Amino acid sequence: MSLTVIGTVALDTVETPFGKIEEGLGGSATHFSAAATFFTPLSLVAVIGDDFPEKHLEFLRSRPINLECLQRLPGRSFRWVGRYEHDLNVAHTLDTQLNVLTQFKPQLSPVVRKNRFVFLANVDPELQGKVIDQVEGEPLIAMDTMNFWITSAKPALLKTLKRVHMLVTNEAEARLLAEEPNLLKASRIIRRMGPQTLIIKRGEYGALAFQENEIFHAPALPLEDIQDPTGAGDSFAGGMMGYLAQTGDASFANLKKGIIYGSVLASFNVEKFSLERLKVLTREEIEVRYRQFCRMTHFENVAHAA
Ligand code: AMP
Repeated sequence: MSLTVIGTVALDTVETPFGKIEEGLGGSATHFSAAATFFTPLSLVAVIGDDFPEKHLEFLRSRPINLECLQRLPGRSFRWVGRYEHDLNVAHTLDTQLNVLTQFKPQLSPVVRKNRFVFLANVDPELQGKVIDQVEGEPLIAMDTMNFWITSAKPALLKTLKRVHMLVTNEAEARLLAEEPNLLKASRIIRRMGPQTLIIKRGEYGALAFQENEIFHAPALPLEDIQDPTGAGDSFAGGMMGYLAQTGDASFANLKKGIIYGSVLASFNVEKFSLERLKVLTREEIEVRYRQFCRMTHFENVAHAA
């Protein structure tokens, strides 16, 4: 086992123009894990309350997920309430209830400390830092964050950012973090904060990766049926990190493939509410869509006769 994720395991109430779900299974670490386990087993570091439904735990147990670092504390589970507009790129957080997350002290077991790939999914940056304190060797550490933490916990976030190799964040959050509207300039500002590699997720417009002087631009697959964008970013990160951990290769060339696998997983995740699509997804469907991505982006520079 070589991949660790810390993040939220949540009960999400989400409304989109296509329907509503009350207290469905969600959370940054949950979407990440559901996507990453198509490629590799992983260890989940998270907290749930004593109200967390057994059926959701059964789903986590049904995947190759090491749950020894999943703590169950007395109290209510983390809850998030969100609404998306007709333009699904526009999301509103209506409520964030941290609940047991405020009591959580992540504890990595001796085996989990040795994992070579670590993803700090969206969660309190103090907790992300506590995971880095416990890792052994020199794992590749990537992290995500969101406006909630950029505005409420920026000093802690900047401290954590200094200690990671890669940041995966969305376009608006990159601008907010860098305090710079231009993405190219923002990418340089953010990489000066710590991470050598920056991946900016741009919703239905795809993703951009920056490393040294390299830039890679991956499209998103044009989709006809999108029901719920929640967790698109986390399943993107899960597909990408799962692929990197499976192949054990963190070169920029392999990262590009990982980004396409991440885009594939995100494209499935948004087709249904909560984890419903990823629950029934097959590895074969992933490969078919990966090839579709390759065809969609391939072109040849045809020479024309003068
Ligand atoms: P995404 O749509 O990929 O940005 O992630 C949405 C998921 O993140 C939802 O399932 C939420 O439960 C979870 N989430 C929302 N707000 C937070 C927060 N402040 N910290 C950690 N996880 C959150």
